[in-house]
This record gives sequence, structure tokens and C-alpha cells, in this order.
Amino acid sequence: MDLYEYQARELLEEQGIPTPRAVYAGSVEHVADAAETIGFPLVVKGQAKIGHRGQAGAVKLAADLDDAVAMARDIMPMTIHGHRVNGVLLAEAKNVLHEYYVSISVDRSSRDFDVLATANGGTEVEEIAREHPESVRRLHIDALEDFDLEAATQMAESIGFYHADVDQAARILLKMWRCFKDNDATLVEINPLAKVGDPDDEDSKELVALDAKISLDDNAAFRHDGWARFRDPVVADALEREAKDNGLHYVHLDGEVGVIGNGAGLVMSSLDAVAYAGEDQGSGVKAANFLDIGGGASASVMAKSLELVLRDPKVESVLINVYGGITSCQTVAEGVLEAVAALGVDKPIVIRFDGNAAAEGLATLEKASLDNIHVARTMEDAASLAAQYAADAIAANAASAARREEDEQ
Ligand code: GDP
Ligand code: MN
Repeated sequence: MDLYEYQARELLEEQGIPTPRAVYAGSVEHVADAAETIGFPLVVKGQAKIGHRGQAGAVKLAADLDDAVAMARDIMPMTIHGHRVNGVLLAEAKNVLHEYYVSISVDRSSRDFDVLATANGGTEVEEIAREHPESVRRLHIDALEDFDLEAATQMAESIGFYHADVDQAARILLKMWRCFKDNDATLVEINPLAKVGDPDDEDSKELVALDAKISLDDNAAFRHDGWARFRDPVVADALEREAKDNGLHYVHLDGEVGVIGNGAGLVMSSLDAVAYAGEDQGSGVKAANFLDIGGGASASVMAKSLELVLRDPKVESVLINVYGGITSCQTVAEGVLEAVAALGVDKPIVIRFDGNAAAEGLATLEKASLDNIHVARTMEDAASLAAQYAADAIAANAASAARREEDEQ
């Protein structure tokens, strides 16, 4: 799971890594209060799980309240390289003197941890590596050896931190390592790790994290309470509330395949089947959410369910896995077709039925011969198809984003 910058900063702060004061605002209405708490000037930063926000115009310096509100209004509806902006962070603006880059990540091939660092921070590390390859240092932390202040100091020196910054850099490196380990992260990146302050006042200068990117290892979620505190607050809360109001049970996850089923057991197996298919196909696609429709699967329940599941902007395909009991799969099939027509759904939907009137239901769907409706006979086949469609859509989105970028240049 990738975190938003404001969430990643929280984890850095928990380890005592200095970060400028900042307040998250999930909607434009909350911007004024948040901005007053921080004071001016401040930086308005669009929260999207992607880098290059600065270049995309989603990081702006605001001189006063009017500025901050106007900028938030511009940034909030943005989509950056296919990633929706989900709120803004209002952060104390700092006078930046220099930008470093530091990251810690898992190195699967050498089974240890990579520290990547350069004194030329700011832009994305891929670009830095292209333009100043000699400045990028790759070092390693061995999980079995102690990484202590002495080791961190040696590392800070060899990374190319300027002399005056070495001690503070070493302490930050050590804290980044603790952040990485304590949170079962696969990536902790600070870019820029900035030297800020008044150029004429030595005492005012310090290193602070101006931006943070953290990815957590999904396999360790059980050790961290399922990372409930990092749920996508805007999308998740609204959808979960609306589902509840309609007698449905919706749970927001972090992947790309929407999952609709009846009964907790069937829905859980569907999630696993999707994750397995994504891993097997090498795309890493996972369930974006799940919606348990419970006993009733009428046309109106199906319409509401599809609408809710598709409203998560990350959903690229939907898997419907229904066991027909009292409700026949034939009824569910009719509900699916009505819902797809009413909502004008064009994303791929894969359906698998079992139980009461399963064959009739699937035949009804096949007869409708809609381009985006696909049927499968087993749960594994259905999950595999749904994962494949989602991966295809992600690849197509990335290709069209790359073309748009080329056009703009
Ligand atoms: P990214 O483009 O998505 O990596 O977003 P960042 O949070 O890294 O912001 C982009 C750039 O904005 C940084 O590299 C800084 O140069 C600049 N920036 C961010 N915060 C501040 C700040 O407080 N003061 C100044 N002067 N620049 C900032
Ligand atoms: Mn950055």
C-alpha cells in the first residue's frame, strides 16, 4: 500500500524526523481553517499517490488566505498522471537552501536494504540518475548487522552530505531506518530532504523532510491493525456510509478490481482469488474494495452495488461472484443487465454464478452479448479474467498519459 504524503509525514514525525508543520484538508471548505493554523506564507500541496506533483502544478506557494483558497480550488480537482488528487496539505513554507535525496528500499536480489542518496535532490531520482549518475550513491544496510549512529555517520559522509550537515543527516538516516523497520515498509523516501533556513544565520539552518513517500508491505497489514488509519478518507468514508444506508456492506481496499458477492465467505475467497491472479500474472493487481450484497440481489440492489463499487476512481474492472440461494442467478443476471444499462457502465465486468439457476443466469448474460460483460464458470477463471482486464486498463491509461505528456512538450 502506498501512502499519501500527509500520511507518510505522520510516520516520519513519529520517529522524530523534522518536518515543517502541516495540516491536511480533505475539501476546499476545510482549507481556510487549516491555513490559519499554519500561517503564511505556506505551501499548498495536492495529495496524490504519485511524484512530479510540483511539475504538474499541484505544489504552490501561497502568500495569504485568498491565495491559499484559490490554489486549493485549482489543485483539488486535478488528476496527475492518472492519479486523482485527494485533498491538499497546507505546509509551513521554508526557505530552501539545498535539496538532498535519500531513500531506503528492499533489495530483493541481494536480500538486504538499499540506501539510495544524492546531494542533487528535488526531482525524481530516475531523472537525477540520468542527469548526474555520478552523484547517486547506492549503499546497503544488512538486516542482521546493527545499523547504529556510527554506521549512519559513515554513511552520511559517503553519501555526499556537506560537512555541516553530516551529524544531522546521520540522525535522520537512523530514524528513517527505524521508520522503515517499525512500519514494515518496502520504501521510505525523502525527496527533498532540504536544508532550510536564513542564508545569513548559521543557527537557523537545519535539514527537514519537505516531501515523503512511503510504501507499506501489504503482507504485514495484520501486524498493524490492517493500517486502518491510512484508509483513503474521502472515498472510503463516503462510500462506506452510503452502502450502510442502503443495507449493503462495503469495505474500501487499495487495489484495482471491484468485488461484489453475496455472503462474507464467498466475498473473502473472491478477494484472495483476485490477489492470487494478479500475482500469478505479474501485474500485482488486487481488489479495490468489496461489497457484500447479502441475501437480496434484485435489480435495484445490483444497480446500487455497481454504482458504489465503480465510484472508487481506482476501479478498472469488476468481479461479480454470486451464489444463488433463495434469489435465483437468473434474477441477478437481469439485475446486472438493467444496472449496466441504467448506469452506462463501460468498464469490464466479469460474472461467475453458482447455485440456483446459475446456468440460466449465465446464458441470459451471454445472450445480451454486451462488449464489456464476460462470464466465467469458476471463481478462479473469473478472478483471472477480472485481474487481466484491470491490468490491461492500467497499461492503456499509462500509455495514453505518456502520449499526452509528449504532446504537451
Ligand atoms: P513532488 O513534485 O511530487 O515531488 O512534490 P514535492 O513535495 O517534492 O514538492 C516539489 C518541490 O517544491 C520541492 O522539490 C521543493 O523544491 C518545492 N517545495 C516544497 N515545499 C517547499 C517549501 O516549503 N519551500 C520552498 N521554497 N519550496 C518547497
Ligand atoms: Mn518530492
